[in-house]
Amino acid sequence: MKQRQPELADAANMHIELLELHRRIRGRVPLPSFALSAEVLTRHSAEARPLLRFEEIPLDLTDLRLMVRQTADVLRRYGALEEADHHKVQSLGRDMKLLATVGEWYRSAAERHVSAGIGIVAPIAASSADEGMVGQVLTLAMRPFLSRCAEVLQQRSDLAVWPHSHCALCGGEPDFSVITPLAERHLICSRCTLQWKFEPLTCPYCANSDRSLITSFATPDGHYRVYGCDRCHRYLKAYDGRRSSRPVMPMVDTVATLPLDAAAIQRGYS
Ligand SMILES: [Zn+2]
Ligand SMILES: [Zn+2]
Repeated sequence: MKQRQPELADAANMHIELLELHRRIRGRVPLPSFALSAEVLTRHSAEARPLLRFEEIPLDLTDLRLMVRQTADVLRRYGALEEADHHKVQSLGRDMKLLATVGEWYRSAAERHVSAGIGIVAPIAASSADEGMVGQVLTLAMRPFLSRCAEVLQQRSDLAVWPHSHCALCGGEPDFSVITPLAERHLICSRCTLQWKFEPLTCPYCANSDRSLITSFATPDGHYRVYGCDRCHRYLKAYDGRRSSRPVMPMVDTVATLPLDAAAIQRGYS
């Protein structure tokens, strides 16, 4: 991609550095154990309530501080973080209240869905706690810890009872998806990378299921696809597993599809 579209080289390099940081920390995170019976899963699904409580995440405070500060440094170096935001995140990384702030950020997503209505596909609206640059840094900084938790839940076949557009584990919203060889679409959580089955042509952001209001287009090689919603004007990228032999690699495929973001934005989606 860097050779074909040199203007995206900086963005690609930044994501590669973030990925390396993620891998280094993730290798040190122990597999968590949390209550996960079929009964618990069914109850949480009925209430649209994500499974993982903040206290159950295997967080190491030293590693979390390191992730927060180094993520901010990488973003700043590539001009993806303003000086003022960089300063804010650096002092948050040193702050005694870091855990409380991260806990609030974590819970805000889950609470939003539960309060939006029980048992329905709740539309996702931005809330103050996780919007803005600090929220984006926390999303990246928490990923090594949350993706280890997702590993545990991903093994469960009864995860299929979860019909919602937000993540069953952490309550985050999807930012990527994969089309399986059976032509199912699985959403991928932006916070923990959990994958779960969802209606192939329903917008996960506003629940629009009118097919005439969903615009879909693919890359020339057919490996990736975009779904644009003509009601809320958001879009979702997908890796098309029907045309490829390897499984989806969320953190790599998101970077490989940077040109698709440009194409979607050009068509008026965000
Ligand atoms: Zn999640
Ligand atoms: Zn929509």
